[in-house]
Amino acid sequence: MKLLTFKGGVHPSHNKEATEHLPLEKANSPKVVYISMSQHIGAPCSPLVKVGDEVKVGQRIGEPQGFVSSPVHSSVSGKVKAIKMMTSPGGQMTQCVVIENDFTDEIFEEIKPYGKFEDLSSSAILEIVKNSGLVGMGGATFPTAVKLSPPKEKPIDTIILNGAECEPYLTADHRLMLETPEDVVEGLLAIMKALNVTKGYIGIEDNKPDCIKAVSKAAEGKAGVEVVGLRTKYPQGAEKQLIYACTKREVPSGGLPMDVGVVVNNVATAAQLAKTIRTGMPLIDRICTVTGSAVKNPKNLLIKIGTLYNEIIEECGGFSTPPYKVISGGPMMGISQFTLEVPSNKGSSGILCVTEDEVKPKETQNCMRCAKCVNICPAGLQPLFISAYSLNDDYEKAASYRALDCIECGSCSFICPSGRPLLQSIRVAKKEILAKRRKESK
Ligand code: SF4
Ligand code: SF4
Repeated sequence: MKLLTFKGGVHPSHNKEATEHLPLEKANSPKVVYISMSQHIGAPCSPLVKVGDEVKVGQRIGEPQGFVSSPVHSSVSGKVKAIKMMTSPGGQMTQCVVIENDFTDEIFEEIKPYGKFEDLSSSAILEIVKNSGLVGMGGATFPTAVKLSPPKEKPIDTIILNGAECEPYLTADHRLMLETPEDVVEGLLAIMKALNVTKGYIGIEDNKPDCIKAVSKAAEGKAGVEVVGLRTKYPQGAEKQLIYACTKREVPSGGLPMDVGVVVNNVATAAQLAKTIRTGMPLIDRICTVTGSAVKNPKNLLIKIGTLYNEIIEECGGFSTPPYKVISGGPMMGISQFTLEVPSNKGSSGILCVTEDEVKPKETQNCMRCAKCVNICPAGLQPLFISAYSLNDDYEKAASYRALDCIECGSCSFICPSGRPLLQSIRVAKKEILAKRRKESK
């Protein structure tokens, strides 16, 4: 199989050995779940329940507010004990519905199988996507219904499923593709039908040959579906890089995948859509890889959304040694946690518990103008200059160096021999530039 790739990128150690061969395990149902009203990019939901209400599994408890938003459902049956603000894995404060589990697993009466996707119309599939609270499950959490509703002037001719899982340590997508490849393919076909598209790719990195084999077998005889091997390189799963690898189309600066006729979804998002169509159950659980040298028994767990991170870690035997850091997601793009009293959400693809040896930061020194960051930047940027202007509070100049095209992959920080805070400073610049533009547009 010919391997596809993109320009730039880096080669961090994969560190997937601890969990890549471990089958999925269903986590215990927690006594209490904390369901965030903000598990997606866009406007938070408004709670549909109040303290004292009884809820059932799959019942809608959060109503989306606005076009870019997504409903939220209960992952357990039980009683609403509180509605309170809590810290999310992203570090923001978020409103959560606290539900005491009654362990009866009573399913909400409106949950019914939708049948076969082949028998559904495009608009019916889109409606299911919208009502099931489906979001980008690779971690981006962009509402899928919005992604699948491009404006008329942006015709889509290609769907790409991201099965790269290029973040080191994480193996949630790996196990999903290996154990339920038919769901991945069926989800892709459903998305293709929803958008009236005849071409679909499933891109998988070549460090997962077992997945390439399993998904290829599931795709046999499915018209328009092509499984492609991707060269293992970070950030192979980033949208623009994946589109280039599969189609050789380049998303323009400041543009979106739909500008080149493409919609990209994660393999887990597609598999969830297939599951929802088959069972009627909205998105209430997901696979989460719990790994790193500081966790006793690394696992790939199917968790109920709303389970606290500390309970998920306990399910893996707790810490084997005090962790230096606990990261939500992978080491390249994940977010360090300052408390473990955070509820898992639709984007919780991994919990990484690392020792100091695993992520020891380099000592920060002056930039030596080696240009390594420039050579590897997958977006074709000059990170050293954007960072320098950002650190000088000169955000206009940072913008002129295309700071907003940064995909925040962290490759520059990874490669920099001087340990410069490149990604952090570029993030600050992006935030400032966008805030200024918002202010001006008002
Ligand atoms: S500048 Fe942005 S896109 Fe380029 S390597 Fe750094 S984080 Fe990645
Ligand atoms: S990699 Fe680091 S030291 Fe080299 S040019 Fe970029 S910022 Fe400077």
